[in-house]
Amino acid sequence: ASLQELDTIIPAPNRRQDRTVPSAAHPGSGFANTPDTDPSLPANRAWGRAILDRVPTSRLGNDVVAATTLTRAEELEDTIAGAVSASGSWGSLSGAERAAVLHKAGDSLEAHRADLMEVMAAETGKTLDQADPEISEAVDFAHYYAERARELDDVDGASFSPVRLTVVTPPWNFPVAIPAGSTLAALAAGSAVIIKPASQARRSGSVMVEALWAAGVPREVLRLVQVEEGDLGRQLIADPRVDRVILTGGYETAELFRSFRTDLPLLAETSGKNAIIVTPSADLDLAAKDVAQSAFGHAGQKCSAASLVILVGSAGTSRRFRNQLLDAVTSLTVGYPEDPTAQMGPVIEPAAGKLLDGLTTLGDGESWLVEPRKLDDSGRLWSPGVRDGVRRGSTYHLAEYFGPILGIMTAATLDDAIALQNDIDYGLTSGLHSLDSREIATWVDGVQAGNLYINRGITGAIVQRQPFGGWKKSAVGAGTKAGGPNYLVGLGSWSSKESLT
Ligand code: GLU
Repeated sequence: ASLQELDTIIPAPNRRQDRTVPSAAHPGSGFANTPDTDPSLPANRAWGRAILDRVPTSRLGNDVVAATTLTRAEELEDTIAGAVSASGSWGSLSGAERAAVLHKAGDSLEAHRADLMEVMAAETGKTLDQADPEISEAVDFAHYYAERARELDDVDGASFSPVRLTVVTPPWNFPVAIPAGSTLAALAAGSAVIIKPASQARRSGSVMVEALWAAGVPREVLRLVQVEEGDLGRQLIADPRVDRVILTGGYETAELFRSFRTDLPLLAETSGKNAIIVTPSADLDLAAKDVAQSAFGHAGQKCSAASLVILVGSAGTSRRFRNQLLDAVTSLTVGYPEDPTAQMGPVIEPAAGKLLDGLTTLGDGESWLVEPRKLDDSGRLWSPGVRDGVRRGSTYHLAEYFGPILGIMTAATLDDAIALQNDIDYGLTSGLHSLDSREIATWVDGVQAGNLYINRGITGAIVQRQPFGGWKKSAVGAGTKAGGPNYLVGLGSWSSKESLT
């Protein structure tokens, strides 16, 4: 496999815009967020179309794209042993030395923006408006963790020791940003890394890794394996030489990994079932737009997605919010990413099991505000669905569906609405639309979720500004948030420096 080099064929766009400036909240962080490509500029739209012209096969998904060679058992043993023996030289570099490599890695990811977007669209069906910010996030992780690595060098009275080997197992839904973020964090903290991309997104993972190698991350230190969870995956996760596993995926996958090895040092971001609460004081038009975006961006396939909207008091008894939501949802255009008008793409695999149930059947007391329709024979392309009248304690209230469905619940008071969110075992993101400061304070105090968003959407956390991570069953062994100031601090061990006096 080699980098696609699409970026050398398609001229770089005039991407820069002033939207993103260094955050005033962290003036000493030495970091500024990378801007997304501005689609209002004609040159950028032409650039996007040129990328999409190279994506003829996304409706076939990973059947075509991920014709990747799988790692064999004897190779896996060599990979683990090799990574462990290379870890010493990497871990003994100073944080500043590792930071220099990470900054180059960030530049390389940026230089391969088009390559990464192409393969991501083809493999996972991600539309370009979702793929572009994902590259910005990956670039941000590189530069942000580089600066945090530098800080590990000069903590008063304490010295940081890296672990030797980290295994990274990312999901397919953010097939570049999440593998890049976890890998770069572990590298910044001085660990060697073995990354196993999700089986639905193997090319995306390997193109990302090649971009890091091209930037000077040593191949001995960062190793790529393509294995299934079943056999070799289990062997990799359970190997006692592995010091840490960074997983982003379903809660069941975290449980499965723990069944492989009881003392597994697991750091996992897992499932979510996230609500946006809308009170009568809210700007209901804005709320409807934010709910639709949070529910149906990337066809709802984000841990952070809004899967419930909980309407308080008259926001739920009147038709106004529902009418706005109906307009917002039915005006979304659905298609494969090679169609430049598509705002919502396909689901990763033909809808089956719980997701198919969610798209085709209603629970007690529920009705469709917007009934989802199957748009072609693939089983992957669905129009978005909104189910009204979701009841407390029902399956739809409590379970994660990970697809383009949203449920409406109603509550008499804000406290009741918070209780409905807190009934759920997960606690990843949560949103409130309210223009009343007392309501905002009540919600911030009472809601059990890791990332809280007020009067905006609840997806698309930005590195440094919104460090990302949940609690309850949305996190296993976590505690510090990805893209935040303390993430690296928790990735090694600390000892006090001996006094020299
Ligand atoms: N960080 C992503 C966001 O804020 C979600 C990641 C995930 O789905 O795992 O939207």
